[in-house]
Amino acid sequence: CGVFGIFGHPEAANLTYLGLYALQHRGQESCGIVASDGNQLRAYRKMGLVSDVFKRPSVFDELPGKSAIGHVRYSTAGASDDKNIQPIMVDYHRGSIAVAHNGNLVNAQEHRNRLEHEGSIFSTTADTEVIIHQIAKAQADSLPDRVVEALTNLKGAYCLTFLTETRLVAVRDPNGFRPLALGKLDGAFVVASETCAFDLIEAEFIREIEPGELIVIDKNGMKSYHPFDKIQPSPCVFEFIYFARPDSTIFGKEVYGVRKEFGRVLAREYPIDADVVVPIPDSGVPAAVGYAEEAGLPFETGLIRNHYVGRTFIEPSQSIRHFGVKLKLNPVREIIQGKRVVLIDDSIVRGTTARKIVKMVRNAGAAEVHVRISSPPTSFPCYYGIDTPTRKELISSSHSVEEINRYITADSLGYLSRGGVLKAAGIPDGATGYFCDACFSGEYPVKFPRLKSDSQLG
Ligand code: 5GP
Ligand code: SF4
Ligand code: MG
Repeated sequence: CGVFGIFGHPEAANLTYLGLYALQHRGQESCGIVASDGNQLRAYRKMGLVSDVFKRPSVFDELPGKSAIGHVRYSTAGASDDKNIQPIMVDYHRGSIAVAHNGNLVNAQEHRNRLEHEGSIFSTTADTEVIIHQIAKAQADSLPDRVVEALTNLKGAYCLTFLTETRLVAVRDPNGFRPLALGKLDGAFVVASETCAFDLIEAEFIREIEPGELIVIDKNGMKSYHPFDKIQPSPCVFEFIYFARPDSTIFGKEVYGVRKEFGRVLAREYPIDADVVVPIPDSGVPAAVGYAEEAGLPFETGLIRNHYVGRTFIEPSQSIRHFGVKLKLNPVREIIQGKRVVLIDDSIVRGTTARKIVKMVRNAGAAEVHVRISSPPTSFPCYYGIDTPTRKELISSSHSVEEINRYITADSLGYLSRGGVLKAAGIPDGATGYFCDACFSGEYPVKFPRLKSDSQLG
């Protein structure tokens, strides 16, 4: 998911819309904006892409005020369903509050069970609603204290923006799994999952919100707090590999450069005699540039993408996903015919994409097809807000690299090593714990009370 927030700008809802537009890659199922005019919160939320949901200009007349938060969603906890559209907005004895969440709480269900036992009635199936219930029940007086109280027994990944009539609160979990940035525009504070949102609205990127940091913005300015026990942060390395936009700066680095470096290290780890390096667009592009540079091979966009098709993986239904690959990509025969091709992609999840593309490239006349992946085998599910499928569906949880190579019918297959990922991301040799890489290593930085069953996975 992606979150956005702005406080103290006359164009708050419009700018939130633009911010969400820039964050669209983080979630395409639904989106929403909640705005405050100082006295009242108003929401506009629907299933669909930002450009579709907010296509009527008059929508913005329904969202007056100088502060707003927004959300783009794809489901990790809770069904893809219109009850679960964010921001969630409620009225309670203290007034109104809205929240937008990027991440996934690992112990939401046990707290939900307890809250229901105590009489709470939930209106969504999303983990985020637990936070709202706990804020409503909190004993503390001030809003930031209530937020902290609500979060202290919740574990997992969260970047949250809260909006009340008069305040905006943003908080990043102590592990710092997901990115969250702070910016400024015409004197107004802005927060966003990724800095690419600031670029679009021409806001200045001030700094990242730190793991475990909570900021409160109101008419008196901004205040920063570190209310949680300090721990070694574990930002999600998969944001670098795939999820974030390459033109964003996250975790202190520009994503494009890190991705390109993944490709360079991959070329050193798995060199091959070949004629041309071709990315599987778009996610394989920066790594392919790095691979080609390091290997001294020509880089060609030998697969052309239809840009009117969304990210295949995120489409929740298997039938669409299957069809998606052909709908989305077509080879350039002239580039591929008679060539020994190195195909670069960022990851193999189920193996469907790679298998279909290898076949497509062979049909276009390639002499050889070598696949190189700019991450280690994805063998474990994510519990922190990335929608990886169950272990059963992850091809590398039950198959060796050799078996996967046979399945995708490539001439050779090489994955970037775990050490290679860390090296490319600038982590010193042999050091671990700087990032979460649990979907590759199985070393989960935050324990979860029980294993996610198949049915809980979105
Ligand atoms: P597969 O066909 O192996 O299931 O999917 C692999 C493709 O899905 C890659 O091209 C990768 O870029 C893309 N992809 C899209 N979204 C995700 C995601 O959330 N996780 C992973 N691992 N890959 C994704
Ligand atoms: Fe990121 Fe993988 Fe860790 Fe999930 S398990 S937070 S996708 S590195
Ligand atoms: Mg891809």
